[in-house]
Amino acid sequence: MHNRLPQWIRTPHRSGLHEVKHLLRTHRLSTVCEEARCPNRGECFSKPTATFLILGPQCTRSCAFCSVVSGDPRPVDDSEPERVAAAALQLNLKYVVITSVSRDDLPDGGAEQFAKTVYALRSALPTARIEVLVPDFRGDLDALRAVLDAKPDVLNHNMETVKRIYPLVRPQADYQRSLALLAAAKDISPGMITKSGLMVGLGETPEEVRILLSDLRGSACDFLTVGQYLRPSKKNFPVVEYIRPETFEELGKEALALGFRFVASGPLVRSSMHAEEMYRNGSSSRPAQP
Ligand code: SF4
Repeated sequence: MHNRLPQWIRTPHRSGLHEVKHLLRTHRLSTVCEEARCPNRGECFSKPTATFLILGPQCTRSCAFCSVVSGDPRPVDDSEPERVAAAALQLNLKYVVITSVSRDDLPDGGAEQFAKTVYALRSALPTARIEVLVPDFRGDLDALRAVLDAKPDVLNHNMETVKRIYPLVRPQADYQRSLALLAAAKDISPGMITKSGLMVGLGETPEEVRILLSDLRGSACDFLTVGQYLRPSKKNFPVVEYIRPETFEELGKEALALGFRFVASGPLVRSSMHAEEMYRNGSSSRPAQP
């Protein structure tokens, strides 16, 4: 399967993978890097950087592009925030990303667990920057407020794809609801840096991508990531197209021209990849206006 990928998609093997994996097992933690079979996990783990996946591993949704297991989720584990903080401390992380599966079974969608994890991280690593990559909480703004009250440094919520493709690959999500969540984060915490990401290669047209970028700016989104969709397994939605690196470059320039403060656009760019670099470079630039 690897041989059929275009040459620009292949990733080098990196060291550090086993040590980080071992540490995560010790603390009984999952990373989205592994659950989603991210192609960059070798590179990120070698830094080491990891995006902690809380409230999992089972997800209540079934997005066609995602390899996280769908099913009956486990009860919320009260020890999880402290275990994440202990692992982050042991890895001496300067920038920590926390994400979760969608927990539509919980009244607050898991917001309280996000907040508790941010507080635990702040206490263990007071100087670390914290990014939360949140689900849509089914549009519940009280849940969003609970996460923002914990004062993460970046609020990330991925749009993933253009509006037309939502029913095909993200049937339980809603394009407008996700946009509204990002806009609400700015309303609730005007100083908050917001971030979103999309995958290309799912059959979207360039015009549809332009509309999505402009919609994101309409929600005052600051940071953007754009990467190639790669099918994690044969059960997932097929790749419709491998987008060439020069197209990613053009997309990145268009996005910057629209007013995003920082854009990472490239075949292997993933939501949390180079998150620390993005924060360092993008947070000092002038705030983006919608
Ligand atoms: S909500 Fe969708 S993308 Fe997120 S973990 Fe669940 S199945 Fe995967």
